[in-house]
Amino acid sequence: MAQAPLTLTVPVGDRSYEILIGAGLLSRAGERIAACTRGRKALVVADANVMEPHGRVVLSQLRAAGYAVEELVVDAGEETKSVGWLARIWDRLGSMKLGRDGVVVAVGGGVVGDLVGFAAASWLRGVDFFQVPTTLLSMVDSSVGGKTGINHSTGKNLIGAFWQPRLVLADVDTLATLPRGERVSGMAEVIKYGVIRDAAFFAWLESHVEAVRDLDPVAVTRAIHESCRVKAEVVGADERETTGLREILNFGHTVGHAIENSAGYGAIRHGEAISIGMVVEGRLAFGRQPGWTPAEQGRLEALLQRAGLPLRVPASLGLTLAQVQDAARSDKKNRAGTVRYMVPTRLGEVVNTALTDHEVAPFLSEAGIDA
Ligand code: NAD
Repeated sequence: MAQAPLTLTVPVGDRSYEILIGAGLLSRAGERIAACTRGRKALVVADANVMEPHGRVVLSQLRAAGYAVEELVVDAGEETKSVGWLARIWDRLGSMKLGRDGVVVAVGGGVVGDLVGFAAASWLRGVDFFQVPTTLLSMVDSSVGGKTGINHSTGKNLIGAFWQPRLVLADVDTLATLPRGERVSGMAEVIKYGVIRDAAFFAWLESHVEAVRDLDPVAVTRAIHESCRVKAEVVGADERETTGLREILNFGHTVGHAIENSAGYGAIRHGEAISIGMVVEGRLAFGRQPGWTPAEQGRLEALLQRAGLPLRVPASLGLTLAQVQDAARSDKKNRAGTVRYMVPTRLGEVVNTALTDHEVAPFLSEAGIDA
């Protein structure tokens, strides 16, 4: 029997919104969206992999709820977070004369969510936006927190806006069509939430990681709910990255981004790079944080491995220490020759720590990044 969806409120003032998580949610998507909007005109955007299996359901549900709906299929992939695709969405919103009470729905992963969210934020200075995330990463990360945007030739996510959705429908059934590699990659962020803020969730994952990875509906629903709860707490306390709390979400990301950037787009999945980043940034705590010992590190590494994530950089990427450290330095603010890393103090807490390249080098080499 289908489980009732779990709900969660993201507390961002008068733009607070709900996330619904569970199986079979799309079958009532039209009425759920209709309950939050005045107008009855909508644009549904999905990429070519997602429109057929899932976007169609949303389109037909919106029609059944009385909406005049148009659809737009964008290319799949990171390159779609571009001015060109943004302009195509604006063109469509213009030709369909979508007014202030209009509705924009993103069905897909983080790429579509970020792009379409920014289109909704900028059209008429902001129209109602709904997210139907269809990757594990977009369910636990990009659909929480209101960051929208596109890439620029000089870097990722450089142009954008904070624009909160009205509602997020995370239907775990949509994950069934997601390629296994993408699903495993999303597990890295799920595990991260346990390390940075919730030791009990980490322990729960230790007994359910295979069930989550293999999409047992009850387990995956709970894991997404707990992950969104942690991110929502952090984002609710630091919506615009002013108090510093939000930086805890970067655990594994200083090293992870440096690996991604040095390897080049598409060479390694985001979650795989973050997994290696968490291994390295976890080890940086040795001798610095008495509450994080080889025992905690062993638990982290065992969990990542069981999820199917890598602990070391594949030799085939041919990354050098200089490349990765240069990338880390240019990505993160550094003071007096140091780079900032989020380092665990114990299971459930991390702290911003400035370290020199010299201090970090041995741990990068342990992870397979050689001089
Ligand atoms: P993605 O959107 O590129 O999706 C990955 C691949 O899976 C794509 O090929 C897509 O077509 C396909 N796909 C998606 N759902 C599917 C499904 N159910 N069945 C079959 N195929 C499916 O990647 P992603 O990992 O979801 O998102 C990555 C993006 O998210 C990056 O651009 C990143 O910058 C962004 N991001 C944003 C935030 C934020 O706070 N806004 C946070 C983290 C990441």
